[in-house]
Amino acid sequence: MAEKMRRSRREFLIDVGMVATGVAASATLAGCSHGDDCNCGNGENPPTGGADSNCPPAQSNTGGTPTTGGATGTGAGPGSGGTGGTSIPEQTGGSPLGGAGGTSGSEPTGGTSTGGTESGSTGGTSTGGAETGGTGGTATGGAGTGGEANCPECPPPTECATPATLPTEWAREVDVVVLGTGFAGLAAAIAAAAAGAQVLVLEKMSEAEEGGNSIISGNMWWTPTSVEGGVTYITALCMGLTDDQYIQTLAQEMYGLNDWLATLGVTPSPFGIFEPEYPELPGSASVRTWANTGGGGLWQPLRNAVSSRDVDIMYETPAVNLIQDPTTREIKGVVARNDGQDINIKCRRALILACGGFEFDHALQAQYLPAWPVFCQGTPGNTGDGLRMAQKAGAALWHMNNALAHVGCFVSDPADPNSIPISLSLPNGCILVDKSGSRFMNEKREERHGFGHKEHLFFFDGLKQSFSRIPCFGVFDDTTRRAGRLAGGLSGWFGRHGTYTWSADNSAEVASGWIRQGQTLDALAAAIGVDPAALNATVAGYNEFCAAGQDQDFARPASTLQAVATAPYYAIPIYPLMYNTQGGPRRNERCQVIDPSGEPIPRLYSAGELGSGWGWMYNGGGNASEAVVTGRLAGANAAEEGPWA
Ligand SMILES: Cc1cc2nc3c(=O)[nH]c(=O)nc-3n(C[C@H](O)[C@H](O)[C@H](O)COP(=O)(O)OP(=O)(O)OC[C@H]3O[C@@H](n4cnc5c(N)ncnc54)[C@H](O)[C@@H]3O)c2cc1C
Repeated sequence: MAEKMRRSRREFLIDVGMVATGVAASATLAGCSHGDDCNCGNGENPPTGGADSNCPPAQSNTGGTPTTGGATGTGAGPGSGGTGGTSIPEQTGGSPLGGAGGTSGSEPTGGTSTGGTESGSTGGTSTGGAETGGTGGTATGGAGTGGEANCPECPPPTECATPATLPTEWAREVDVVVLGTGFAGLAAAIAAAAAGAQVLVLEKMSEAEEGGNSIISGNMWWTPTSVEGGVTYITALCMGLTDDQYIQTLAQEMYGLNDWLATLGVTPSPFGIFEPEYPELPGSASVRTWANTGGGGLWQPLRNAVSSRDVDIMYETPAVNLIQDPTTREIKGVVARNDGQDINIKCRRALILACGGFEFDHALQAQYLPAWPVFCQGTPGNTGDGLRMAQKAGAALWHMNNALAHVGCFVSDPADPNSIPISLSLPNGCILVDKSGSRFMNEKREERHGFGHKEHLFFFDGLKQSFSRIPCFGVFDDTTRRAGRLAGGLSGWFGRHGTYTWSADNSAEVASGWIRQGQTLDALAAAIGVDPAALNATVAGYNEFCAAGQDQDFARPASTLQAVATAPYYAIPIYPLMYNTQGGPRRNERCQVIDPSGEPIPRLYSAGELGSGWGWMYNGGGNASEAVVTGRLAGANAAEEGPWA
């Protein structure tokens, strides 16, 4: 049964010809063989740095020790980005539609639920290139790398960020390459094609498993009733972590979003939930949430629009590395893995990273999230590939610590980072206890996309050197066990691709050992490894609160207080459940990926949750809106770039 519940990332990577975590990030570029023109040739060529080098200058790296920057280089080269303006050509503007209709689809909130390290490499990133039109620029960097290098100046051969020379052979040539078939990638492809560009979409997963988090999401989105209201609210949500100009553009484009969606056959209808999610914040009155009552959620109409345009999609073809001009920093192509072969694909105008977050890479989680592990219900294809590729191209990062996690999932094999969790909905006769057997929160506490829960879950006990609530345990009795299933309709990935059905009285999950049991609380405590005296005391205290109708410890609502009193007793390990990460390469209002000094990396764009603008708090529906809006912007702006060849 457990086998049905997860599919290993290894399997996925084998499917697409990649066999281990991080292969995508560290694969050697086809053109980076450290030949005559490369300065990282293990001593074959003395490092020189500067204009023709893909290596940082000698004084920037001490070897063996990760460094974060390089001394000034001398490279120069014409840039290409920066064509100005942020509006979308086919944007029609206008007010959000106010059509009546149903409320199909919802973003799971877990509202009632209670339930390694990355290598130090940052890649060589000599910068340079002017933003507007080929006046040349000064190279300013060259990032150091972690670990042992064969020469002190250069990254290890397998971690070169750029080829010494550009490939001479290209398997495909198009104007714009888009990575990913989620909301962002599809919107980008539509916009770029509408602007006349020849577009190729690369998707890591199979056609049957396309669509990323987007296709399995609640498919609801939000728009502001005015640009000003949107700016005010988003500014408050982001708590100073997102650039003003980006927020301005986001609000402006979200304001006109429904008009554009209507042109694709979407029927935006009031949804009403999360409207707003943070009513205390200024601008919140402007939030309107939407669902498509025209059929197919938000994703299918976008996918149909791509099908009806001259856009090619290559499935099971993950991008594994960007091809970056070592002098100008322009992204001129991408190495993709297709049928076990690395192929070079030229993008004459630009490349758009729309390949999702790092939900399924626990090593990245441990580096960037405030606690770990957390599990995600979305696509196992999102393993941080875009993050690594952007880092190697010299991108700044933002919002890496933003995880919207709830209490609420069961994981069949928590040691396996590829496990796809099952969302739980725990009933009133259930309490949460930590690894010491103590309650730690009002299990019915209001939450707003993570907040309300994650601040409890992510607690680290420094005296015990433990995230003492990862996992926590949902403890209940036989009355509750018989009353109904802990996991209702399976949602997320399993809602679409899973075959498992949770038993109506939870008996199958008790039999399989997913739910532990004990005839006494002592026995249950032994089964889950907590102190029996502590668990007995916790349950006794809680039952007294039930009898009195008042939870004196955590003020749980009286109507939800149901005693844990009928043997046998049960416990289920519960992990934090995350929808998606928000962090990734920082982008500007044109959706150009920018470097740490704020300069665009020429011909490199991003969209969607990879480097999302949602800085800290989050209103439900915001990821879908932003993904479509930024996809459109990135697609339109990418198509406007002048071809480099
Ligand atoms: C269960 C769940 C419910 C949600 N509900 C909502 C909701 O109702 N409203 C809302 O606003 N947000 C919701 N979210 C969040 C939202 O779905 C995502 O943030 C959004 O869909 C991200 O869109 P995207 O296009 O950026 O990424 P994704 O849709 O995740 O697409 C990324 C794609 O890139 C592909 N990819 C990855 N690596 C590579 C590579 N190397 N090369 C090529 N392709 C690659 C992936 O396979 C994937 O297809 C939900 C999330 C989950 C998990």
